[in-house]
Amino acid sequence: MTERKDIIVGIDLGTTNSLVAYCDETGPRIIADEQGDSCIPSVLTFSPDGQVVIGCAAKAHAVENPTATVFSVKRLMGKGYEELLAEGEIAQLPYTVIKRVTDSADRDVAAVDLNGSVLTPPEISALILRQLKQQAETYFGREVRKAVITVPAYFDDAQRQATRDAGQIAGLDVVRIVNEPTAAALAYGLGVRGHLNGTAGPSDDLSLMGHCPSTEPASGSASGGQAGESVVAVYDLGGGTFDVSVLRLTDGVYEVLSTHGNTHLGGDDFDRQIMNLVQREVREQFGVDIASPAIRQALRHFAEQIKMRLSRDSSAVLEIDIGASEPYRRTITREEFETMISPWVERTIASCSRALADARLGPERIDQVVMVGGSTRIPLVRRRVEEVFGRRPYTALNPDEVVALGAAVQADILGGSRRDTLLLDVIPLSLGIETMGGAMGKLILRNTRIPCQATERFSTFVDGQSSVKINVLQGERELARDCRSLGEFELRGLPPMPAGIPKIRVTFLVDENGILNVSAVEERSGIEAGIQIIPAHGLTAAEVRRMEIESIEHAREDMTAHWLIDLRNQIAFDTQKTEDMLAKVGEQMPAPERSAVTTAIAELRTLAETCSDPRRLQQALDDFDRQTVPLAERAITATLRAMDT
Ligand code: AMP
Repeated sequence: MTERKDIIVGIDLGTTNSLVAYCDETGPRIIADEQGDSCIPSVLTFSPDGQVVIGCAAKAHAVENPTATVFSVKRLMGKGYEELLAEGEIAQLPYTVIKRVTDSADRDVAAVDLNGSVLTPPEISALILRQLKQQAETYFGREVRKAVITVPAYFDDAQRQATRDAGQIAGLDVVRIVNEPTAAALAYGLGVRGHLNGTAGPSDDLSLMGHCPSTEPASGSASGGQAGESVVAVYDLGGGTFDVSVLRLTDGVYEVLSTHGNTHLGGDDFDRQIMNLVQREVREQFGVDIASPAIRQALRHFAEQIKMRLSRDSSAVLEIDIGASEPYRRTITREEFETMISPWVERTIASCSRALADARLGPERIDQVVMVGGSTRIPLVRRRVEEVFGRRPYTALNPDEVVALGAAVQADILGGSRRDTLLLDVIPLSLGIETMGGAMGKLILRNTRIPCQATERFSTFVDGQSSVKINVLQGERELARDCRSLGEFELRGLPPMPAGIPKIRVTFLVDENGILNVSAVEERSGIEAGIQIIPAHGLTAAEVRRMEIESIEHAREDMTAHWLIDLRNQIAFDTQKTEDMLAKVGEQMPAPERSAVTTAIAELRTLAETCSDPRRLQQALDDFDRQTVPLAERAITATLRAMDT
């Protein structure tokens, strides 16, 4: 009987949230809990009957029972009481941190006193890890005993050891401790290629390697698969912490060249700016102070929602019932929000410059920039990071999940089952966009070598169209519905123009790591939007083969269907243009000629709806175009005359 291989999961044990992930044959994926939540808040409390409560339920408790709820325990890991006191950390926490006397340790130990129950930070982290372990066990239906756990690059030996201890208390064999920035780079496949064909990475253990700058375990060769060197910057801006790391990947070894940051800077500061604005204006307009803790808590939540909205939209409406005769109401624009948060964002940018200087590298030496943390969704943050490193950052993966996904990739490498789905030199399936009528417009064909780029121009079909939705597709079939949608985005705010006039340039760029950047620019107005995607994610080699075979089997019917869509689009366009010309110069035409054109328009439209024989439709369209030549000539002459006068 063959022995079943141990499952190794990847765990991001975060300050605010923790996640567990696993790699299957389609790539890394997060294991959600039974409610479908991918991350659990790193919060612990005791219920009135003394039971331990973890995650969302514990977080809800925090408001009513702040002294009995532990959060941000990661800040305490591996630290002595006196050290925490000196750093000012203890003063900021609403729960009680005490000094625990131990006979063996050569430094004092900090512990948390929860209404008489004393727990060390590793014990608290262990309870969070146990929850994640159970989550994974429910998913797999069997025991999970091994894990890769991530830690910040700046964690010292004691902090790494405390993390390892937490794993052990939770019943997990911590097969490796990995730096969070390294995990983020691995999630994007950077440096993974050396592990094709299932070669496992060496088993040296980071926790023994001292603190920064530290060398990471071998995780494959440099991006692109060639031996050599590449430099990756990882910018991590979460809710309450910020750090940036510069990593060098040389012949399969990740080395942290420098790291810089601020353990008390993040999205919470941005929420506070909105809260301060509301409090100030409410005081000015209504003469009242928002003082009650409950209203402040509600306001904090509300401010966060507004902040998130402004990552997507250019403005958001704030409306709060403060108990006066009318609510407080105002619109906040993205520009205004950016001005408010700019000092904090600039501090992170200064850290990036410091990290570059410490690594003795200019920005031109950075090959890739990876974004981590929920606050990197803010457009200003993305823009400034792009400016400081001179490179568009990687944002294709969910920034909250990227570290856990990378831990899963590392776990997969250690398990010896690294699969090649992510790691191809060529585009496995064609890439394109959905065009009018549901056809697949291919921009990059299957088997094109990467890196590669393709550009095509499109236009609108409706007069005054103010937005265009771009659906990015993958597959060999001719109709969008038979392809895989990789993601979509909208080009919004187009100035009103007649159909066919806007020039929308769509560019597909697949870089050497297989990451696809799609951008769309309306050339007259300069309006731009885009999306970043990892096309190989979620695809197995077998699926690629199946899609290829299907495309061959359906080749004939697909070509006919595509031709039909193109013809129907052309008919819709030509008949509309003819109708417009008729409205303009129809008066000057003899009545029989005019009514003949009107009848031809109606007949062709009906035929387009009812006939599915492309040859017949093509013939009818050619006839129509010939028949309307005199009208077109008349319209052109009228336009020229109008220009002369
Ligand atoms: P993390 O610590 O990585 O989980 O990041 C949490 C922080 O990201 C919080 O401050 C969130 O408010 C923030 N965040 C999450 N989504 C967005 C978004 N769409 N726009 C701006 N901030 C966000």
